[in-house]
Amino acid sequence: MVKKIAYRAGDGKPRTLEYTLVRSARKTIGIIVDPNGKVTVRVPQFMPTRQAEELLNEKLDWVLKHKEQFEEAAKRTPTKRFTDGEKQLFLGEEHTLRVSVDPDAKNEIIKNGNCIHISCENETLAKPLLQQWLHDQAKEKFPAIIAPLLEQFSERYHLSPAKVTIKWMKSRWGSCSAKRSISLNSRLIMASPRCIEHVFAHELCHLIHMNHSKSYYDTLSEFMPDWKERKREFERIYARRMIT
Ligand SMILES: [Zn+2]
Repeated sequence: MVKKIAYRAGDGKPRTLEYTLVRSARKTIGIIVDPNGKVTVRVPQFMPTRQAEELLNEKLDWVLKHKEQFEEAAKRTPTKRFTDGEKQLFLGEEHTLRVSVDPDAKNEIIKNGNCIHISCENETLAKPLLQQWLHDQAKEKFPAIIAPLLEQFSERYHLSPAKVTIKWMKSRWGSCSAKRSISLNSRLIMASPRCIEHVFAHELCHLIHMNHSKSYYDTLSEFMPDWKERKREFERIYARRMIT
């Protein structure tokens, strides 16, 4: 349910803040500002809206500060055009795109050090070629990145996924089904290995708890004690720079 509250900004002018109110079987209130600036307030099933609003008001400075930081970061992120000289993240490292257009080009990508050379027949092919290449790279590199985690997890909890699939997805970084099948988004190849590991560890822990309960997070913290840091790193540095 989308709601609004009114507040006065630092300059004294009246403003409104839009937020989504979610009621669920929880005992506490949770306020989340996500990287696209969306504010969500999660409250216990029967908490009156007025009370949720009061709590949101108390935390308003914090909410506005984070919303602003995310919006600033968005402004600093230029739109990608897949042209020569542009920066491209690959395994968390900055690379430079070298795009050459040639009617006889083989439509291929070759990585050489910190340069990713795209040679294509026309510039509109640069993006799909790069996407396909990133996807292929993810399929090639992810197994070695996740192998140690799979081993540690099965040693500790005697559980392993039925299968791990790597796919190019728009809206989620990973998922874990009731049939114990884990999917990882191949777009994660743009992030650093430690952030890829965090997404995978997050999904592995769903093999034990199919929810985001306190027990779930206790298991995740036990398995990957620094997961919060990795998550923060992912959201601050990579999440919004991942091409779709
Ligand atoms: Zn999850």
